[in-house]
Amino acid sequence: MKTSFAGQRLHHEATARIRRFLDHEQPGTPCLVIDLPTVRDRFTAIRDALPGVGIFYAVKANPTPEVVALLAAEGSSFDVASPNEIDLCLAQGAAPGTISYSNPIKKARDIAYAYGRGVRLFVSDSEHDVRAVAEHAPGSSVMLRILVDTKGSTYPFGKKFGCAPEMATDLLRLARDLGLVPLGVAFHAGSQQLDPNGWDGAIADAAEITAKLRAEGVELSTVNLGGGLPAGYLDPLPPLADYAAAITASVSRHFGEFAPKVMVEPGRAIVAESGVLRAEVVLVSKKSYSDERRWVFLDIGRYGGLAETEGEAIAYPLRTSRDGGAAGPVVIAGPTCDADDVLYQDTCYDLPLDLRAGDHVDLLCAGAYTTSYSSVAFNGFEPLATYCVR
Ligand SMILES: *Cc1c(COP(=O)(O)O)cnc(C)c1O
Repeated sequence: MKTSFAGQRLHHEATARIRRFLDHEQPGTPCLVIDLPTVRDRFTAIRDALPGVGIFYAVKANPTPEVVALLAAEGSSFDVASPNEIDLCLAQGAAPGTISYSNPIKKARDIAYAYGRGVRLFVSDSEHDVRAVAEHAPGSSVMLRILVDTKGSTYPFGKKFGCAPEMATDLLRLARDLGLVPLGVAFHAGSQQLDPNGWDGAIADAAEITAKLRAEGVELSTVNLGGGLPAGYLDPLPPLADYAAAITASVSRHFGEFAPKVMVEPGRAIVAESGVLRAEVVLVSKKSYSDERRWVFLDIGRYGGLAETEGEAIAYPLRTSRDGGAAGPVVIAGPTCDADDVLYQDTCYDLPLDLRAGDHVDLLCAGAYTTSYSSVAFNGFEPLATYCVR
């Protein structure tokens, strides 16, 4: 890995622990190995950089029970999207009061289930959902998610979540009228946000809504800045301290003397760098005698957990068992009989010229959005196995 979000030293120790596990256990591939000390390190780095900010780990990034248990023990809160994620967090030691049901798209019976398990914080972006929360989770706190500009993000959320600021303002008034606690504004500035100022426009919108409602006597105590903190893939990143400084300055600039409580929902930044995904080369071939680029087929692809290679958005750093010798350009593809199961053809990867079937290829920084995207058995391939090292 060329850069690391929180420093190189731990990364080398983590790599050594993971390599010891792989050498000793020789697990079948593909598999993901999570270094739990790295998860703890990333969580504490974010907590230390943003003192006083509530950290809600976005469980979808990596729902491995050991990861959730470790974060619960460290005092993290949790951002969940379904009844099963609620049960997972509770089973791993999270208190119901530390859980935010942050998915604005939810069934009435799932809201009721969450309420029954003690969850009292919900995020909405529509009138129907606010009314459903009022009916099935009476008296709970609700945040309204707004649509935001996500430029600077490698993996934007588009227009699926959030509503226009005027509508969010009306729905916060409605929440109050329905006996809910209107807690504040939420948003997501886009995943893998490479610009430390990428939250600023949305923070300004949140502050404007908050000021408008304060003038009417509705006090919103909190702002939820969502996820987006990045992980160190191939490109260099600004340091975490730059993000913390930009976010803190932006909140105080826009909210002024009325400092809100702040929540963040990091997923990727907590787990990505903790994971190494070991794959095996199935085949190296050429499509014609004159072809310069070889095709390298791995035993993992788009459907085995590498969904974030869609559009080649996320480019994982690669290591092979033959690194060090001469290398040349390759196309990298997965093992299934699906034509879209090609990982990289525009991103330039050079792999060793003597790479061959049976060799290992390790994908670094692969702890986020891999196991959770792995299909059940597309073409009969098993879902991605996860192991944890301590
Ligand atoms: C996925 C998600 C997150 C985590 O985003 P990252 O970019 O991985 O930090 C946070 N909040 C919500 C509501 C999400 O859906």
